[in-house]
Amino acid sequence: MFKKLILVAISLTLSTAFISAQVRVRLFSDKAPESAVFSVTEGEYVINAFSGETLIVTKGEPVILTRYNGKLAVKMRNALGFLCDSVLFKGKTSDDSFSLRINGNVPVRQYYSGDLQCFPDLGTLVLINICDVEKYISGVVRAEGGNGKNFEYFKTQAVIARTYMYKYFDKHLNDRYNVCDNTHCQAFNGLSSDTIINMAALETQGLVILGKDSTLIVSAFHSNCGGETSSSEDVWLTNQPYLISVVDPYCFSSRNATWEKRISLYEWLEYLKKSGYNGKEDDPSAFSFLQKSRLTDYTTGSFKMPLKTLRTEMNLRSTFFSVIAEGDSITLKGRGYGHGVGLCQEGAMAMAAKGFNYQQIIDFYYIGVLISDIKNAVVIINE
Ligand SMILES: [Zn+2]
Ligand SMILES: [Zn+2]
Repeated sequence: MFKKLILVAISLTLSTAFISAQVRVRLFSDKAPESAVFSVTEGEYVINAFSGETLIVTKGEPVILTRYNGKLAVKMRNALGFLCDSVLFKGKTSDDSFSLRINGNVPVRQYYSGDLQCFPDLGTLVLINICDVEKYISGVVRAEGGNGKNFEYFKTQAVIARTYMYKYFDKHLNDRYNVCDNTHCQAFNGLSSDTIINMAALETQGLVILGKDSTLIVSAFHSNCGGETSSSEDVWLTNQPYLISVVDPYCFSSRNATWEKRISLYEWLEYLKKSGYNGKEDDPSAFSFLQKSRLTDYTTGSFKMPLKTLRTEMNLRSTFFSVIAEGDSITLKGRGYGHGVGLCQEGAMAMAAKGFNYQQIIDFYYIGVLISDIKNAVVIINE
């Protein structure tokens, strides 16, 4: 009885920290903003900077934020201004929204909802958007996928993005935010105005992908697998039971299904020699290499090297390629685009177009998983 009570207490502590309705997103995280202009686009914002003093900002009253002697300078149009360590723009309702423009000369203006915190740090301004989780998810899906994609595909992407966000919710904890807005976490360029994407997030609200042990999966994806996905073990040396290779019949006719690169035999040989090859040089046909299903190494004679090293060093679209030696040239005939692990986006789009729903698409690419509410996710302590 006593033991059971302790367990309940632990799981409650975890779940409240875990199922946050809001996410703290660092904005323009790869642009090192030196100044920013905050403008209200909907509703009213309250500025909290000093204890006891609050200011109201409405539409048509841009607020300029700059660094000044290690402090933050806040300037409003009516010549009102002050210096502080940190400022919080708090929306009066949850529907309030604002736009941000950074660095004056860079014409980047993006739209956000929720609150904004700003403080100076190491020669830049840190801008943190405290955003409703589902609005953030719509924004990530929009940043990821363009137009004309199927509703079930967008639902698939929303579940994947939500799984990823919760899985790595603590990635930037020491930096006072949860996620950044570039691909280090997930790309986020602000609010999505695409109603289909917003509906896809709403209809899958709270849903995430769990493995057999009920923990959040690593929801890896890539552009095109070339007809066969990679196992995580082959690419990242970590074995995940749900990230194993599957044969994909759906992505063959998509844009990134094949690629080709031609180089001279001389270049190829020089590259191999640099990588430790010391075999025959007078028989080019020895360099030919056939990859019908995914392999991990390129081999010629007794020489072998990892395909993923070749991919990185030669800047290739995938590791799934064959080598054809003809005369004094080498042709790399490749399939797919990306690391190949997890969901194949172009395959998923084709599946959605054929009438599969998001559960079927997720089940096809992630093996033995469960789609469930985030409330049911388990956190393993000392993982
Ligand atoms: Zn990040
Ligand atoms: Zn595929």
